[in-house]
Amino acid sequence: MTETERFNRITEDKLCIGCGLCQSLLGEEKVKITKVESGEQKGELRHKVISPLSKADTDLVYATCPSTRCEANPKELTADAPNEDIVWGAYQRLVLAWATDNNTRYEGSTAGVLTALGGYLLKSKRVSFILHVKPSTSEPTFGEATLSFTEADVLAAVGSRYGPTAPLINLDEVLSRNEPFAVIAKPCDLNALRNLAHHDERIDKLIKYRLTLVCGGYMPDTSMDQFLERFDIERKEVTALRYRGRGCPGPTTVTTKDGQQQDFDYIDFWGEDESQWSLPFRCKVCPDAIGEAADIVAADTWPNASPERGISDKDVGTNSLIIRTKTGNALVEAAVKDGYLTLGDEVDIDYFYDTQPHQVTKKKFVKARFDGLKDAGRLTPVTVGLRLDELAEQNSPAENEEQRQGAFKRS
Ligand SMILES: Cc1cc2nc3c(=O)[nH]c(=O)nc-3n(C[C@H](O)[C@H](O)[C@H](O)COP(=O)(O)OP(=O)(O)OC[C@H]3O[C@@H](n4cnc5c(N)ncnc54)[C@H](O)[C@@H]3O)c2cc1C
Repeated sequence: MTETERFNRITEDKLCIGCGLCQSLLGEEKVKITKVESGEQKGELRHKVISPLSKADTDLVYATCPSTRCEANPKELTADAPNEDIVWGAYQRLVLAWATDNNTRYEGSTAGVLTALGGYLLKSKRVSFILHVKPSTSEPTFGEATLSFTEADVLAAVGSRYGPTAPLINLDEVLSRNEPFAVIAKPCDLNALRNLAHHDERIDKLIKYRLTLVCGGYMPDTSMDQFLERFDIERKEVTALRYRGRGCPGPTTVTTKDGQQQDFDYIDFWGEDESQWSLPFRCKVCPDAIGEAADIVAADTWPNASPERGISDKDVGTNSLIIRTKTGNALVEAAVKDGYLTLGDEVDIDYFYDTQPHQVTKKKFVKARFDGLKDAGRLTPVTVGLRLDELAEQNSPAENEEQRQGAFKRS
């Protein structure tokens, strides 16, 4: 197998999520993230090998790519956490929260907590900029990596982007600025940063805060095609797509070239419940969709993970937070004191089991699903600090076998 073939296995085995880290590490002259033109992964952001790779190149990718390795927070960051749950990991505190500023809360995906914290980090000069994601300038349904230097910049990038997104595509350039910064990104993007910290000392030196969201997975581009077709919207006519926000979850708003804006309910977009969600394969077997590599994780708070149809008009939004580290705790306390964040009730871990049942199932069965993939000769990520063996031991042998067989057959 050539090094290029070894590298391409990550995409062929449907593990790539298009975060862009490989392009940042190896340079565009060797690897480029592009939109796939045809085939099973049509429309996705995937790597293309431009010139031959060395063994060292591929080894570096395998050691850092969040699809071949997933690492949680290092022990020294979580050892003092007063709480640990087998599914949800180590945490300092669980609490409800929302952006104090009404406009930020309204614009936010859920209640604007990540935007409020990003703005606060800049205003309080704790960091020089935030690396996160905004609507893509070239592909209206995609997200795009961005650096925010002001509160207004952070607010302009508010909201979840459910389409393909490569937050780490310019990471090397970002690190070369040699300034302290914070990252707001998906859990898998943060796993990649934990991996890279073993190979690039700038990661721990410069990244002062890591904020994330509980992540069910993004929507494949072909499913976006189906959504647009269902409502007779031509893809080439779309100029902007706002997934949610402006109430919770808020409408999915599609803007077309003729200036028309059409609003859809969150349920029209994602479906009635988890069984209808369309997700990339990698997201279905994600070993850390709950942000174990973060300081703070923000989530939605609907019972059973699905909002009622039409709820957005009535609900201004409330985030639940998993505060994992002392750094996260200190940031939340300071943001509350300085008027950026408002806290609601403390909640217990059962609250997360009730509002995120899909995450619980996934986490419990990831090990069995990985075993099924290995049986089929497929790649699976190495995991560090995610308790997958312990979790599997809590399931009955029959349950594990069923999940293993299911993953084997699907692969
Ligand atoms: C793909 C995806 C799946 C999700 N699945 C779940 C779920 O299963 N359960 C749940 O409780 N919540 C889920 N969420 C999170 C939820 O939608 C909210 O983002 C979260 O509650 C934070 O709300 P907020 O109001 O604080 O965010 P906001 O204040 O609106 O800030 C959102 C921040 O996230 C960044 N961001 C948005 N999209 C992306 C992206 N694709 N990649 C990296 N960074 C991004 C933005 O740059 C922004 O800074 C998901 C979000 C995404 C993007």
